[in-house]
Amino acid sequence: MKSAREKIQYRSLPFQVLERPGGVVLKRGTEQLLIEGELALESILLLLSVTSGTSATEDEICSKFAQPDHPNVRRLIELLYQKRFLVAADRIPGDLSEDNADIFYWQHDRTRQSIVDKLSELSIAIAGINPLTHHIHASLTAMGVTNICLMDDPLLRSHSFFKDDQINPQAWTGSLPAIIPAQQREEALKDHRAKCLIAATAYGGQVLLLEWNRLCIDKQIDFMPVNLQDMIGYAGPLVIPDKTACLQCLRMRQNAHLHDVDLERLAEQHAHRGQSIAAIHPSMITVLADTAVFELTHFYGNLADPRPGRLIRIDLAAGTTDAFPVLKIPRCPVCSKLNKMAAVKTRKLNPMP
Ligand SMILES: [Zn+2]
Repeated sequence: MKSAREKIQYRSLPFQVLERPGGVVLKRGTEQLLIEGELALESILLLLSVTSGTSATEDEICSKFAQPDHPNVRRLIELLYQKRFLVAADRIPGDLSEDNADIFYWQHDRTRQSIVDKLSELSIAIAGINPLTHHIHASLTAMGVTNICLMDDPLLRSHSFFKDDQINPQAWTGSLPAIIPAQQREEALKDHRAKCLIAATAYGGQVLLLEWNRLCIDKQIDFMPVNLQDMIGYAGPLVIPDKTACLQCLRMRQNAHLHDVDLERLAEQHAHRGQSIAAIHPSMITVLADTAVFELTHFYGNLADPRPGRLIRIDLAAGTTDAFPVLKIPRCPVCSKLNKMAAVKTRKLNPMP
């Protein structure tokens, strides 16, 4: 009786074969496999002749080689299968056609569809109608993510997307999802069953995102703040309620390093009115928006080394990108559990009549 492995129909995924003295190097994504031996190239080409675009069992592959070589061929098949250069044919579409994004997902032992499904299951809500949210929405929908809703917030609006107080479909190119008015946002988030909310401002108003931060902590919704301020983009920290620092934690830590908080934060309060005089290169929008989308893809796609609670700072003018972990403030007025505990204790000591 044949073992499960002997029944596998092996099929090779596309990879490069690079000849070198005494062997070959096989390359796919960033993976490189060194196969040593004078007959390495010939063996790989022979194996490909029955597994590229078609499939064969281990015995069928071995039948192409001389009997004395079978043990080495079986070891080669095992290595290629372990490294996923060879896969079971029933695990991939018959008409396999991959682009570079597919190879990226393969590199992380994921498929594009698994990532798209995870992001769609989040019922993502996007707050604000501006160039950042426009690009974030376009990137997510281009990936195939569905179930996205767009929420209006007068303070996060870009004037260029509106005409007579209505969104201008000529400015918002691409698909336009249903837009939820600001006053309906809480019930809409509930109806939409949003598990993740992205709020973005392109004009430097971190303070304008704090209310969304508070709402997400309160409703136990993951929160991704995105803002572009004085030509520097900030993505994150991705806030996971009760687990990571929140945007208020970040703000308090930033304030601790400012000489004159009131003066240096003054423009933020009025950012939505100063958008016509903001200095923004279009690349600052696309790079920042795609960074936010990539961070969501990375975290929810469960790629290696998850990193919620991290602030990514992009300074295109200086040509630098940095990332910093944001630590929780123990008594953050928004996300600290200590606040809730203290409130309970106070009520016990001073019962209401
Ligand atoms: Zn906090």
